[in-house]
Amino acid sequence: MRIVIVGGVAAGMSAAARARRLDENAEIIVLERGEHVSYATCGLPYYVGGEIEDAASLLVQTPESLRAALALDVRTRHEVTAIDPVARTVTVHSDRGVETIEYDALVLAPGAVAVRPPIPGLDSPRVHTLRTVSDALALRSAVTDSAPPVATEPARESARQAVVLGAGFIGLEAAEALARQGVRVSLVELADHVLPPLDEEMAFFVADELDRLGVTVHTGSGTREIIPGAAHDTVVLTDGTRLPADLIVLSVGARPDTAFVERAGIRCENGAIVTDDHGRTSVPGIWAAGDAVVSTDAVTGLRRPVALAGPANRAGRLVADDILRPGAARPWPRPTGTAIVRVGRLTAAMTGANRASLTAAGIPFRTIHLHPDQHASYFPGASAIHLLVHMRDDDGLLLGAQAVGADGVDKRIDVLATAIRAGLTAPDLIDLDLAYAPPYGQAKDPVNLAGLVAANVLDGTLRLWYAQDLPTVRQTALLLDVRSRREYCAGHLPGSLNIPHTQLRDRLDEVRQAAAGRPVRVLCASGVRSALAHRILVQAGFDSASLSGGLLTLRAVHRDDTGPRAEAARPTGGPRAGRRP
Ligand code: FAD
Repeated sequence: MRIVIVGGVAAGMSAAARARRLDENAEIIVLERGEHVSYATCGLPYYVGGEIEDAASLLVQTPESLRAALALDVRTRHEVTAIDPVARTVTVHSDRGVETIEYDALVLAPGAVAVRPPIPGLDSPRVHTLRTVSDALALRSAVTDSAPPVATEPARESARQAVVLGAGFIGLEAAEALARQGVRVSLVELADHVLPPLDEEMAFFVADELDRLGVTVHTGSGTREIIPGAAHDTVVLTDGTRLPADLIVLSVGARPDTAFVERAGIRCENGAIVTDDHGRTSVPGIWAAGDAVVSTDAVTGLRRPVALAGPANRAGRLVADDILRPGAARPWPRPTGTAIVRVGRLTAAMTGANRASLTAAGIPFRTIHLHPDQHASYFPGASAIHLLVHMRDDDGLLLGAQAVGADGVDKRIDVLATAIRAGLTAPDLIDLDLAYAPPYGQAKDPVNLAGLVAANVLDGTLRLWYAQDLPTVRQTALLLDVRSRREYCAGHLPGSLNIPHTQLRDRLDEVRQAAAGRPVRVLCASGVRSALAHRILVQAGFDSASLSGGLLTLRAVHRDDTGPRAEAARPTGGPRAGRRP
Protein backbone atom coordinates (compact mmCIF):
# COMPACT_ATOMS: atom_id res chain seq x y z
CA MET A 1 0.00 0.00 0.00
CA ARG A 2 1.25 3.49 -0.79
CA ILE A 3 0.21 6.25 1.61
CA VAL A 4 0.92 9.79 0.42
CA ILE A 5 0.81 12.56 2.99
CA VAL A 6 0.62 16.26 2.14
CA GLY A 7 2.18 18.41 4.88
CA GLY A 8 5.01 17.24 7.10
CA VAL A 9 4.49 18.91 10.46
CA ALA A 10 1.94 18.18 13.21
CA ALA A 11 -0.97 16.20 11.72
CA GLY A 12 0.91 14.91 8.66
CA MET A 13 3.95 13.63 10.50
CA SER A 14 1.82 12.13 13.24
CA ALA A 15 -0.13 10.19 10.60
CA ALA A 16 3.10 9.07 8.91
CA ALA A 17 4.75 7.83 12.12
CA ARG A 18 1.64 5.95 13.27
CA ALA A 19 1.18 4.40 9.82
CA ARG A 20 4.70 3.02 9.96
CA ARG A 21 4.21 1.62 13.45
CA LEU A 22 1.11 -0.21 12.20
CA ASP A 23 2.50 -1.43 8.90
CA GLU A 24 6.15 -2.20 8.18
CA ASN A 25 5.38 -2.87 4.52
CA ALA A 26 3.50 0.29 3.59
CA GLU A 27 5.26 2.77 1.32
CA ILE A 28 4.88 6.14 3.07
CA ILE A 29 5.72 9.33 1.18
CA VAL A 30 5.52 12.72 2.94
CA LEU A 31 5.41 15.76 0.65
CA GLU A 32 6.29 19.04 2.33
CA ARG A 33 6.33 22.40 0.57
CA GLY A 34 8.73 24.02 3.01
CA GLU A 35 12.36 23.42 3.85
CA HIS A 36 11.70 21.67 7.15
CA VAL A 37 9.49 18.91 8.49
CA SER A 38 8.39 17.98 11.97
CA TYR A 39 9.48 21.25 13.50
CA ALA A 40 8.33 22.85 16.72
CA THR A 41 5.87 25.46 15.45
CA CYS A 42 4.79 26.24 18.99
CA GLY A 43 8.39 26.98 19.97
CA LEU A 44 8.94 29.63 17.28
CA PRO A 45 8.00 32.68 19.43
CA TYR A 46 10.42 31.56 22.14
CA TYR A 47 13.23 31.40 19.59
CA VAL A 48 12.39 34.95 18.48
CA GLY A 49 12.49 36.06 22.12
CA GLY A 50 15.85 34.32 22.71
CA GLU A 51 14.65 31.83 25.36
CA ILE A 52 15.34 29.04 22.87
CA GLU A 53 18.84 30.00 21.82
CA ASP A 54 19.58 27.60 19.01
CA ALA A 55 17.29 27.27 15.98
CA ALA A 56 18.45 23.67 15.63
CA SER A 57 16.44 22.77 18.75
CA LEU A 58 13.26 23.64 16.83
CA LEU A 59 13.96 20.94 14.27
CA VAL A 60 12.59 17.92 16.09
CA GLN A 61 13.29 15.58 13.14
CA THR A 62 14.93 15.78 9.72
CA PRO A 63 14.14 13.78 6.56
CA GLU A 64 17.27 11.74 7.30
CA SER A 65 16.33 10.93 10.90
CA LEU A 66 12.80 10.02 9.79
CA ARG A 67 14.16 7.71 7.11
CA ALA A 68 16.47 6.05 9.62
CA ALA A 69 13.94 5.64 12.43
CA LEU A 70 10.69 5.09 10.53
CA ALA A 71 11.67 4.33 6.92
CA LEU A 72 9.67 7.34 5.74
CA ASP A 73 10.27 8.88 2.32
CA VAL A 74 10.18 12.55 3.28
CA ARG A 75 10.51 15.04 0.44
CA THR A 76 10.91 18.71 1.40
CA ARG A 77 10.44 21.55 -1.12
CA HIS A 78 7.76 19.42 -2.74
CA GLU A 79 4.46 21.23 -3.20
CA VAL A 80 1.28 19.39 -4.13
CA THR A 81 -0.64 21.54 -6.57
CA ALA A 82 -3.41 19.21 -7.74
CA ILE A 83 -5.24 16.02 -6.83
CA ASP A 84 -6.91 13.67 -9.32
CA PRO A 85 -9.29 11.62 -7.15
CA VAL A 86 -10.31 9.39 -10.08
CA ALA A 87 -6.79 8.44 -11.18
CA ARG A 88 -5.68 8.56 -7.49
CA THR A 89 -2.70 10.78 -8.20
CA VAL A 90 -1.24 14.04 -6.94
CA THR A 91 0.70 16.56 -9.00
CA VAL A 92 3.88 17.71 -7.29
CA HIS A 93 6.14 20.68 -8.05
CA SER A 94 9.76 20.58 -6.88
CA ASP A 95 13.23 21.67 -7.95
CA ARG A 96 13.23 18.57 -10.16
CA GLY A 97 10.17 19.81 -12.08
CA VAL A 98 6.61 18.50 -12.10
CA GLU A 99 5.77 14.88 -11.37
CA THR A 100 2.71 12.78 -10.74
CA ILE A 101 2.61 10.41 -7.79
CA GLU A 102 0.03 7.66 -7.37
CA TYR A 103 -1.54 6.88 -4.01
CA ASP A 104 -3.71 4.20 -2.45
CA ALA A 105 -4.49 6.45 0.51
CA LEU A 106 -4.00 10.22 0.57
CA VAL A 107 -3.76 12.24 3.80
CA LEU A 108 -4.22 16.00 3.55
CA ALA A 109 -2.52 17.93 6.37
CA PRO A 110 -1.64 21.27 4.74
CA GLY A 111 -2.38 23.36 7.84
CA ALA A 112 -3.16 27.05 7.61
CA VAL A 113 -1.55 30.24 6.34
CA ALA A 114 -1.63 33.74 7.77
CA VAL A 115 -4.63 35.82 6.76
CA ARG A 116 -3.49 38.86 4.75
CA PRO A 117 -6.19 41.54 4.86
CA PRO A 118 -6.25 44.10 2.03
CA ILE A 119 -4.25 46.73 3.92
CA PRO A 120 -2.36 49.16 1.64
CA GLY A 121 1.39 48.80 2.25
CA LEU A 122 1.20 45.26 3.64
CA ASP A 123 3.80 44.16 1.07
CA SER A 124 6.47 46.27 2.84
CA PRO A 125 9.63 44.21 3.53
CA ARG A 126 9.29 45.22 7.18
CA VAL A 127 6.09 43.12 7.47
CA HIS A 128 6.66 39.60 8.82
CA THR A 129 4.50 36.64 9.71
CA LEU A 130 5.34 34.02 12.34
CA ARG A 131 4.34 30.57 11.11
CA THR A 132 7.48 28.80 9.92
CA VAL A 133 11.10 28.31 10.97
CA SER A 134 12.15 30.70 8.20
CA ASP A 135 9.74 33.33 9.56
CA ALA A 136 11.24 32.93 13.05
CA LEU A 137 14.81 33.17 11.73
CA ALA A 138 13.93 36.37 9.87
CA LEU A 139 12.25 37.94 12.90
CA ARG A 140 15.05 37.05 15.29
CA SER A 141 17.62 38.40 12.92
CA ALA A 142 15.61 41.62 12.47
CA VAL A 143 15.76 42.29 16.22
CA THR A 144 19.28 41.06 16.94
CA ASP A 145 21.34 41.66 13.77
CA SER A 146 22.34 44.82 12.05
CA ALA A 147 21.81 43.31 8.62
CA PRO A 148 19.45 45.24 6.30
CA PRO A 149 15.90 43.85 5.98
CA VAL A 150 16.29 43.91 2.20
CA ALA A 151 19.61 43.45 0.45
CA THR A 152 19.37 46.75 -1.44
CA GLU A 153 19.08 48.85 1.72
CA PRO A 154 22.08 50.18 3.63
CA ALA A 155 23.11 48.43 6.84
CA ARG A 156 20.94 49.50 9.76
CA GLU A 157 20.46 49.13 13.47
CA SER A 158 18.42 46.13 14.60
CA ALA A 159 14.70 46.85 14.98
CA ARG A 160 13.89 48.93 18.08
CA GLN A 161 10.20 49.61 17.59
CA ALA A 162 7.64 47.08 16.40
CA VAL A 163 3.94 46.95 15.74
CA VAL A 164 2.17 43.61 16.15
CA LEU A 165 -1.14 43.43 14.32
CA GLY A 166 -3.53 41.05 16.11
CA ALA A 167 -3.58 40.22 19.83
CA GLY A 168 -4.54 36.55 19.61
CA PHE A 169 -2.26 33.79 20.89
CA ILE A 170 0.48 34.26 18.29
CA GLY A 171 0.29 38.06 18.46
CA LEU A 172 0.69 38.00 22.24
CA GLU A 173 3.59 35.56 22.06
CA ALA A 174 5.24 37.66 19.35
CA ALA A 175 4.74 40.86 21.37
CA GLU A 176 6.29 39.32 24.47
CA ALA A 177 9.19 37.86 22.47
CA LEU A 178 9.99 41.23 20.91
CA ALA A 179 9.67 43.04 24.25
CA ARG A 180 12.07 40.48 25.74
CA GLN A 181 14.57 41.47 23.02
CA GLY A 182 14.33 45.09 24.17
CA VAL A 183 12.06 46.22 21.32
CA ARG A 184 9.34 48.82 22.02
CA VAL A 185 6.13 47.07 21.04
CA SER A 186 2.67 48.36 20.12
CA LEU A 187 -0.02 45.70 19.93
CA VAL A 188 -3.07 46.42 17.79
CA GLU A 189 -6.34 44.48 18.12
CA LEU A 190 -9.59 45.00 16.24
CA ALA A 191 -11.72 43.46 19.00
CA ASP A 192 -12.41 45.49 22.12
CA HIS A 193 -10.01 43.42 24.23
CA VAL A 194 -6.79 41.47 23.84
CA LEU A 195 -6.92 37.69 23.47
CA PRO A 196 -10.49 37.67 22.12
CA PRO A 197 -11.15 33.99 23.05
CA LEU A 198 -11.17 35.19 26.69
CA ASP A 199 -14.16 37.05 28.06
CA GLU A 200 -13.49 40.77 28.53
CA GLU A 201 -13.15 40.66 32.33
CA MET A 202 -10.44 37.99 32.07
CA ALA A 203 -8.62 39.70 29.20
CA PHE A 204 -8.26 42.77 31.40
CA PHE A 205 -5.69 41.01 33.58
CA VAL A 206 -3.69 40.11 30.47
CA ALA A 207 -3.82 43.72 29.25
CA ASP A 208 -2.59 44.89 32.64
CA GLU A 209 0.38 42.54 32.39
CA LEU A 210 1.17 43.70 28.85
CA ASP A 211 1.24 47.21 30.24
CA ARG A 212 3.71 46.08 32.90
CA LEU A 213 5.87 44.54 30.14
CA GLY A 214 5.92 47.92 28.40
CA VAL A 215 3.72 46.78 25.48
CA THR A 216 1.33 49.53 24.37
CA VAL A 217 -2.07 48.06 23.57
CA HIS A 218 -4.49 49.58 21.04
CA THR A 219 -7.82 47.74 21.16
CA GLY A 220 -10.93 48.40 19.08
CA SER A 221 -8.68 49.54 16.26
CA GLY A 222 -7.97 48.19 12.79
CA THR A 223 -5.10 49.06 10.49
CA ARG A 224 -5.89 51.58 7.75
CA GLU A 225 -2.55 51.51 5.96
CA ILE A 226 1.18 50.99 6.25
CA ILE A 227 3.21 53.88 4.86
CA PRO A 228 6.71 52.78 3.85
CA GLY A 229 9.58 55.07 4.83
CA ALA A 230 13.36 55.13 4.58
CA ALA A 231 14.05 55.08 8.33
CA HIS A 232 10.90 53.24 9.35
CA ASP A 233 7.36 52.44 8.20
CA THR A 234 4.32 54.11 9.72
CA VAL A 235 1.31 52.02 10.68
CA VAL A 236 -1.85 54.12 10.52
CA LEU A 237 -4.74 52.82 12.60
CA THR A 238 -8.43 53.30 11.80
CA ASP A 239 -8.70 55.76 14.71
CA GLY A 240 -5.95 57.90 13.14
CA THR A 241 -3.13 56.83 15.48
CA ARG A 242 0.25 56.68 13.68
CA LEU A 243 2.77 54.15 14.93
CA PRO A 244 6.38 54.17 13.67
CA ALA A 245 7.71 50.67 13.08
CA ASP A 246 11.06 49.13 12.11
CA LEU A 247 9.24 45.83 12.17
CA ILE A 248 5.60 44.77 11.75
CA VAL A 249 4.27 41.35 12.68
CA LEU A 250 1.06 40.31 10.96
CA SER A 251 -0.90 37.92 13.18
CA VAL A 252 -4.55 38.68 12.53
CA GLY A 253 -5.56 35.05 12.06
CA ALA A 254 -5.03 32.05 9.84
CA ARG A 255 -7.05 30.36 7.13
CA PRO A 256 -6.92 26.76 5.86
CA ASP A 257 -4.36 26.33 3.07
CA THR A 258 -6.70 24.38 0.83
CA ALA A 259 -6.99 25.95 -2.64
CA PHE A 260 -5.64 22.74 -4.27
CA VAL A 261 -8.10 20.66 -2.21
CA GLU A 262 -11.14 22.70 -3.24
CA ARG A 263 -10.06 22.53 -6.90
CA ALA A 264 -10.18 18.72 -6.66
CA GLY A 265 -13.86 18.86 -5.70
CA ILE A 266 -13.28 17.70 -2.12
CA ARG A 267 -16.02 19.13 0.11
CA CYS A 268 -14.95 22.22 2.06
CA GLU A 269 -16.80 24.69 4.29
CA ASN A 270 -15.43 28.25 4.24
CA GLY A 271 -12.19 26.81 2.91
CA ALA A 272 -11.85 24.15 5.63
CA ILE A 273 -12.01 20.49 4.64
CA VAL A 274 -15.14 18.64 5.77
CA THR A 275 -14.54 15.16 7.18
CA ASP A 276 -16.42 12.55 9.16
CA ASP A 277 -15.23 11.67 12.66
CA HIS A 278 -12.53 9.39 11.25
CA GLY A 279 -11.04 12.13 9.09
CA ARG A 280 -12.53 10.76 5.85
CA THR A 281 -13.23 13.49 3.30
CA SER A 282 -16.11 13.49 0.81
CA VAL A 283 -13.85 11.58 -1.64
CA PRO A 284 -13.05 7.90 -1.04
CA GLY A 285 -9.37 7.19 -0.38
CA ILE A 286 -8.68 10.73 0.90
CA TRP A 287 -8.40 11.68 4.59
CA ALA A 288 -7.62 15.05 6.18
CA ALA A 289 -6.55 16.33 9.61
CA GLY A 290 -5.23 19.38 11.45
CA ASP A 291 -5.74 23.12 11.03
CA ALA A 292 -7.17 22.65 7.52
CA VAL A 293 -10.19 20.68 8.76
CA VAL A 294 -13.50 21.99 10.06
CA SER A 295 -14.47 20.74 13.54
CA THR A 296 -17.70 20.69 15.49
CA ASP A 297 -17.23 22.34 18.88
CA ALA A 298 -17.94 19.90 21.71
CA VAL A 299 -19.89 22.45 23.77
CA THR A 300 -21.71 24.68 21.31
CA GLY A 301 -21.95 22.44 18.25
CA LEU A 302 -20.70 25.41 16.19
CA ARG A 303 -18.49 24.48 13.23
CA ARG A 304 -15.02 26.03 12.79
CA PRO A 305 -11.40 24.97 12.30
CA VAL A 306 -9.57 24.45 15.61
CA ALA A 307 -5.96 25.54 15.13
CA LEU A 308 -4.23 23.76 18.00
CA ALA A 309 -1.31 21.36 18.03
CA GLY A 310 -2.80 18.75 20.38
CA PRO A 311 -5.94 18.05 18.35
CA ALA A 312 -3.88 18.09 15.10
CA ASN A 313 -1.37 15.53 16.40
CA ARG A 314 -4.05 13.24 17.78
CA ALA A 315 -6.21 13.47 14.66
CA GLY A 316 -3.25 12.59 12.42
CA ARG A 317 -2.64 9.46 14.46
CA LEU A 318 -6.32 8.45 14.29
CA VAL A 319 -6.36 8.93 10.52
CA ALA A 320 -3.53 6.40 10.17
CA ASP A 321 -5.54 4.02 12.37
CA ASP A 322 -8.56 4.37 10.10
CA ILE A 323 -6.49 3.77 6.96
CA LEU A 324 -4.75 0.69 8.27
CA ARG A 325 -7.26 -0.68 10.78
CA PRO A 326 -10.62 0.34 9.31
CA GLY A 327 -13.43 -0.50 11.68
CA ALA A 328 -11.18 -0.58 14.75
CA ALA A 329 -10.09 3.08 14.82
CA ARG A 330 -11.35 5.33 17.60
CA PRO A 331 -13.47 8.24 16.33
CA TRP A 332 -12.11 11.77 16.75
CA PRO A 333 -13.44 13.50 19.83
CA ARG A 334 -15.06 16.90 19.31
CA PRO A 335 -12.59 19.60 20.43
CA THR A 336 -13.16 21.75 23.50
CA GLY A 337 -10.54 24.29 22.38
CA THR A 338 -8.39 24.02 25.50
CA ALA A 339 -5.56 26.55 25.10
CA ILE A 340 -2.94 28.32 27.16
CA VAL A 341 -0.54 31.21 26.72
CA ARG A 342 2.13 32.87 28.84
CA VAL A 343 2.17 36.65 29.02
CA GLY A 344 5.00 37.97 31.17
CA ARG A 345 4.52 36.71 34.71
CA LEU A 346 0.99 35.55 33.95
CA THR A 347 -0.57 32.51 32.36
CA ALA A 348 -3.97 32.73 30.65
CA ALA A 349 -5.83 29.55 29.78
CA MET A 350 -9.27 28.49 28.68
CA THR A 351 -11.37 25.48 27.86
CA GLY A 352 -14.84 25.06 26.40
CA ALA A 353 -17.05 27.93 25.33
CA ASN A 354 -16.78 31.64 26.08
CA ARG A 355 -19.65 34.11 26.52
CA ALA A 356 -19.71 35.10 22.83
CA SER A 357 -19.92 31.54 21.51
CA LEU A 358 -22.55 30.49 24.07
CA THR A 359 -24.62 33.50 23.09
CA ALA A 360 -24.14 32.74 19.38
CA ALA A 361 -25.21 29.14 19.97
CA GLY A 362 -28.27 30.27 21.95
CA ILE A 363 -27.30 28.25 25.04
CA PRO A 364 -28.69 29.77 28.29
CA PHE A 365 -25.89 29.92 30.85
CA ARG A 366 -24.78 31.37 34.18
CA THR A 367 -21.33 32.62 35.05
CA ILE A 368 -19.36 32.63 38.27
CA HIS A 369 -16.13 34.49 39.07
CA LEU A 370 -13.63 33.59 41.79
CA HIS A 371 -10.17 34.85 42.77
CA PRO A 372 -8.80 32.20 45.13
CA ASP A 373 -5.12 31.80 45.89
CA GLN A 374 -3.42 29.05 43.95
CA HIS A 375 -2.10 27.43 47.12
CA ALA A 376 -2.51 27.81 50.87
CA SER A 377 -2.61 31.55 51.50
CA TYR A 378 -0.24 31.24 54.47
CA PHE A 379 2.43 29.52 52.37
CA PRO A 380 4.99 31.88 50.79
CA GLY A 381 4.34 32.81 47.17
CA ALA A 382 0.54 32.68 47.29
CA SER A 383 -1.03 34.56 44.36
CA ALA A 384 -4.51 34.88 42.93
CA ILE A 385 -5.98 32.75 40.18
CA HIS A 386 -8.71 34.74 38.46
CA LEU A 387 -11.20 32.03 37.54
CA LEU A 388 -14.39 32.22 35.50
CA VAL A 389 -16.77 29.29 34.93
CA HIS A 390 -19.78 29.17 32.60
CA MET A 391 -22.44 26.53 33.35
CA ARG A 392 -25.75 25.62 31.76
CA ASP A 393 -28.58 27.60 33.27
CA ASP A 394 -30.92 24.75 34.21
CA ASP A 395 -28.70 21.86 35.32
CA GLY A 396 -25.24 23.39 35.84
CA LEU A 397 -23.55 21.36 33.09
CA LEU A 398 -20.02 22.74 32.70
CA LEU A 399 -19.74 24.73 29.46
CA GLY A 400 -16.49 26.64 29.74
CA ALA A 401 -13.78 27.93 32.05
CA GLN A 402 -11.05 30.55 31.91
CA ALA A 403 -8.22 31.30 34.30
CA VAL A 404 -5.51 33.94 34.55
CA GLY A 405 -2.80 34.03 37.20
CA ALA A 406 0.86 33.80 38.02
CA ASP A 407 0.87 30.16 39.09
CA GLY A 408 -1.29 27.04 39.00
CA VAL A 409 -3.46 28.12 36.05
CA ASP A 410 -2.44 25.21 33.80
CA LYS A 411 -3.39 22.62 36.41
CA ARG A 412 -6.84 24.10 37.05
CA ILE A 413 -7.74 24.50 33.40
CA ASP A 414 -6.61 20.96 32.62
CA VAL A 415 -8.80 19.63 35.43
CA LEU A 416 -11.73 21.69 34.14
CA ALA A 417 -11.07 20.55 30.55
CA THR A 418 -11.23 16.95 31.75
CA ALA A 419 -14.44 17.69 33.64
CA ILE A 420 -16.04 19.19 30.52
CA ARG A 421 -14.95 16.19 28.46
CA ALA A 422 -16.46 13.89 31.10
CA GLY A 423 -19.78 15.77 30.99
CA LEU A 424 -19.62 16.85 34.65
CA THR A 425 -21.80 19.56 36.11
CA ALA A 426 -20.25 22.47 38.00
CA PRO A 427 -21.41 21.09 41.39
CA ASP A 428 -19.62 17.81 40.53
CA LEU A 429 -16.38 19.80 40.91
CA ILE A 430 -16.95 19.80 44.68
CA ASP A 431 -16.29 16.07 44.74
CA LEU A 432 -13.01 16.03 42.80
CA ASP A 433 -10.27 14.60 44.96
CA LEU A 434 -7.34 16.80 43.99
CA ALA A 435 -3.74 16.68 45.20
CA TYR A 436 -3.13 18.97 48.15
CA ALA A 437 -0.21 20.14 50.27
CA PRO A 438 0.36 23.83 51.15
CA PRO A 439 2.91 24.56 48.37
CA TYR A 440 0.58 23.14 45.69
CA GLY A 441 -3.05 23.85 46.45
CA GLN A 442 -5.70 24.38 49.05
CA ALA A 443 -7.65 21.83 51.05
CA LYS A 444 -10.56 23.27 49.11
CA ASP A 445 -8.83 23.64 45.77
CA PRO A 446 -9.89 26.56 43.51
CA VAL A 447 -11.64 23.94 41.34
CA ASN A 448 -13.56 22.59 44.37
CA LEU A 449 -14.40 26.18 45.34
CA ALA A 450 -15.83 26.81 41.88
CA GLY A 451 -18.08 23.80 42.44
CA LEU A 452 -19.20 25.10 45.84
CA VAL A 453 -20.04 28.54 44.50
CA ALA A 454 -21.84 27.01 41.49
CA ALA A 455 -23.90 24.70 43.71
CA ASN A 456 -24.90 27.65 45.90
CA VAL A 457 -25.92 29.65 42.83
CA LEU A 458 -27.91 26.78 41.32
CA ASP A 459 -29.84 25.96 44.51
CA GLY A 460 -30.49 29.64 45.34
CA THR A 461 -28.29 29.82 48.44
CA LEU A 462 -26.24 32.47 46.63
CA ARG A 463 -27.79 35.06 44.36
CA LEU A 464 -25.34 36.98 42.17
CA TRP A 465 -25.34 40.32 40.48
CA TYR A 466 -22.84 41.14 37.76
CA ALA A 467 -20.44 43.99 37.07
CA GLN A 468 -22.08 44.45 33.68
CA ASP A 469 -25.33 45.39 35.51
CA LEU A 470 -23.71 48.24 37.46
CA PRO A 471 -25.42 51.12 35.62
CA THR A 472 -28.89 49.66 36.34
CA VAL A 473 -27.97 48.64 39.89
CA ARG A 474 -26.84 52.20 40.63
CA GLN A 475 -30.25 53.50 39.62
CA THR A 476 -32.38 50.93 41.40
CA ALA A 477 -30.57 49.48 44.43
CA LEU A 478 -28.53 50.27 47.51
CA LEU A 479 -24.86 49.43 46.92
CA LEU A 480 -23.52 47.93 50.16
CA ASP A 481 -19.74 47.64 50.41
CA VAL A 482 -18.84 45.15 53.15
CA ARG A 483 -15.06 45.56 53.06
CA SER A 484 -13.15 47.04 56.01
CA ARG A 485 -13.23 50.78 56.60
CA ARG A 486 -9.58 51.01 55.56
CA GLU A 487 -10.21 49.30 52.22
CA TYR A 488 -13.29 51.43 51.61
CA CYS A 489 -11.39 54.65 52.30
CA ALA A 490 -8.69 53.63 49.81
CA GLY A 491 -11.33 53.70 47.05
CA HIS A 492 -14.97 52.79 46.59
CA LEU A 493 -17.94 53.07 44.28
CA PRO A 494 -19.56 56.50 44.64
CA GLY A 495 -22.83 56.31 46.58
CA SER A 496 -22.07 52.96 48.22
CA LEU A 497 -22.71 52.45 51.93
CA ASN A 498 -19.85 50.85 53.89
CA ILE A 499 -20.64 48.38 56.65
CA PRO A 500 -17.88 45.79 57.19
CA HIS A 501 -19.34 42.29 57.04
CA THR A 502 -18.23 41.61 60.62
CA GLN A 503 -20.52 44.44 61.84
CA LEU A 504 -23.46 43.71 59.60
CA ARG A 505 -25.58 41.65 62.01
CA ASP A 506 -25.60 44.59 64.47
CA ARG A 507 -26.24 47.27 61.86
CA LEU A 508 -29.12 45.83 59.83
CA ASP A 509 -31.32 48.78 60.77
CA GLU A 510 -28.87 51.13 59.03
CA VAL A 511 -29.11 49.02 55.88
CA ARG A 512 -32.92 49.02 56.08
CA GLN A 513 -32.98 52.76 56.43
CA ALA A 514 -30.51 53.41 53.59
CA ALA A 515 -32.20 50.94 51.27
CA ALA A 516 -35.59 52.54 51.83
CA GLY A 517 -37.36 49.60 50.24
CA ARG A 518 -34.84 49.17 47.42
CA PRO A 519 -32.95 45.92 46.81
CA VAL A 520 -29.49 45.66 48.36
CA ARG A 521 -26.59 44.79 46.07
CA VAL A 522 -23.57 43.77 48.09
CA LEU A 523 -19.94 43.92 47.08
CA CYS A 524 -16.47 43.30 48.49
CA ALA A 525 -12.99 42.81 47.00
CA SER A 526 -13.43 39.36 45.49
CA GLY A 527 -16.94 38.10 46.28
CA VAL A 528 -16.26 36.07 49.43
CA ARG A 529 -17.26 38.53 52.16
CA SER A 530 -20.20 39.80 50.08
CA ALA A 531 -21.50 36.22 49.84
CA LEU A 532 -21.39 35.96 53.66
CA ALA A 533 -23.17 39.31 53.94
CA HIS A 534 -25.76 38.20 51.41
CA ARG A 535 -26.67 35.21 53.57
CA ILE A 536 -27.14 37.49 56.60
CA LEU A 537 -29.24 39.93 54.61
CA VAL A 538 -31.43 37.40 52.86
CA GLN A 539 -32.23 35.67 56.16
CA ALA A 540 -33.15 39.08 57.60
CA GLY A 541 -35.69 39.49 54.80
CA PHE A 542 -33.75 41.74 52.38
CA ASP A 543 -33.84 41.44 48.57
CA SER A 544 -30.09 40.90 48.33
CA ALA A 545 -27.49 39.75 45.80
CA SER A 546 -23.69 39.49 45.91
CA LEU A 547 -21.35 40.92 43.23
CA SER A 548 -19.84 38.03 41.23
CA GLY A 549 -16.06 38.25 41.54
CA GLY A 550 -16.25 41.43 43.62
CA LEU A 551 -14.40 44.63 42.78
CA LEU A 552 -11.60 42.63 41.15
CA THR A 553 -14.01 41.59 38.40
CA LEU A 554 -15.92 44.87 38.40
CA ARG A 555 -12.78 46.86 37.76
CA ALA A 556 -11.86 44.47 34.95
CA VAL A 557 -15.23 45.10 33.28
CA HIS A 558 -15.41 48.85 33.80
CA ARG A 559 -11.69 49.61 33.76
CA ASP A 560 -11.21 52.73 35.88
CA ASP A 561 -14.47 54.49 35.14
CA THR A 562 -16.42 53.33 38.18
CA GLY A 563 -14.99 55.73 40.69
CA PRO A 564 -11.74 56.15 42.56
CA ARG A 565 -9.21 53.46 41.86
CA ALA A 566 -9.52 51.07 44.79
CA GLU A 567 -6.33 49.69 46.24
CA ALA A 568 -8.15 46.53 47.25
CA ALA A 569 -9.56 46.15 43.78
CA ARG A 570 -6.30 46.30 41.92
CA PRO A 571 -5.92 43.05 40.05
CA THR A 572 -2.66 41.33 40.65
CA GLY A 573 -1.24 38.27 39.03
CA GLY A 574 2.01 38.56 40.89
CA PRO A 575 2.71 38.56 44.59
CA ARG A 576 -0.26 39.37 46.80
CA ALA A 577 -0.87 43.08 47.12
CA GLY A 578 -2.60 43.62 50.41
CA ARG A 579 -5.60 41.76 49.11
CA ARG A 580 -8.17 40.00 51.24
CA PRO A 581 -10.89 37.77 49.86
P1 FAD B 1 1.05 22.61 10.14
O1 FAD B 1 1.75 22.20 11.36
O2 FAD B 1 0.97 24.06 9.81
O3 FAD B 1 1.71 21.85 8.91
C1 FAD B 1 1.23 21.98 7.62
C2 FAD B 1 2.38 21.81 6.65
O4 FAD B 1 1.84 21.55 5.37
C3 FAD B 1 3.23 23.05 6.51
O5 FAD B 1 4.58 22.79 6.81
C4 FAD B 1 3.06 23.46 5.05
O6 FAD B 1 4.26 23.95 4.48
C5 FAD B 1 2.66 22.15 4.40
N1 FAD B 1 1.89 22.33 3.17
C6 FAD B 1 0.80 23.14 3.00
N2 FAD B 1 0.32 23.00 1.75
C7 FAD B 1 1.11 22.12 1.12
C8 FAD B 1 1.11 21.59 -0.18
N3 FAD B 1 0.20 21.96 -1.07
N4 FAD B 1 2.07 20.71 -0.51
C9 FAD B 1 3.00 20.33 0.41
N5 FAD B 1 3.04 20.80 1.66
C10 FAD B 1 2.10 21.67 2.02
N6 FAD B 1 -0.87 25.25 19.09
C11 FAD B 1 -0.94 24.86 20.37
O7 FAD B 1 -1.75 23.97 20.69
N7 FAD B 1 -0.12 25.41 21.33
C12 FAD B 1 0.80 26.37 21.02
O8 FAD B 1 1.53 26.84 21.90
C13 FAD B 1 0.87 26.80 19.68
N8 FAD B 1 1.76 27.76 19.34
C14 FAD B 1 1.84 28.15 18.04
C15 FAD B 1 2.76 29.14 17.69
C16 FAD B 1 2.85 29.56 16.38
C17 FAD B 1 3.84 30.63 16.02
C18 FAD B 1 2.02 28.98 15.38
C19 FAD B 1 2.11 29.43 13.95
C20 FAD B 1 1.10 28.00 15.71
C21 FAD B 1 1.01 27.57 17.04
N9 FAD B 1 0.09 26.59 17.41
C22 FAD B 1 0.01 26.20 18.72
C23 FAD B 1 -0.80 25.95 16.43
C24 FAD B 1 -0.21 24.64 15.94
O9 FAD B 1 1.12 24.83 15.56
C25 FAD B 1 -1.04 24.13 14.77
O10 FAD B 1 -2.35 23.93 15.24
C26 FAD B 1 -0.50 22.84 14.21
O11 FAD B 1 0.82 22.97 13.78
C27 FAD B 1 -1.38 22.41 13.02
O12 FAD B 1 -0.85 21.25 12.46
P2 FAD B 1 -1.10 20.91 10.93
O13 FAD B 1 -0.36 19.65 10.68
O14 FAD B 1 -2.54 20.96 10.61
O15 FAD B 1 -0.44 22.10 10.12
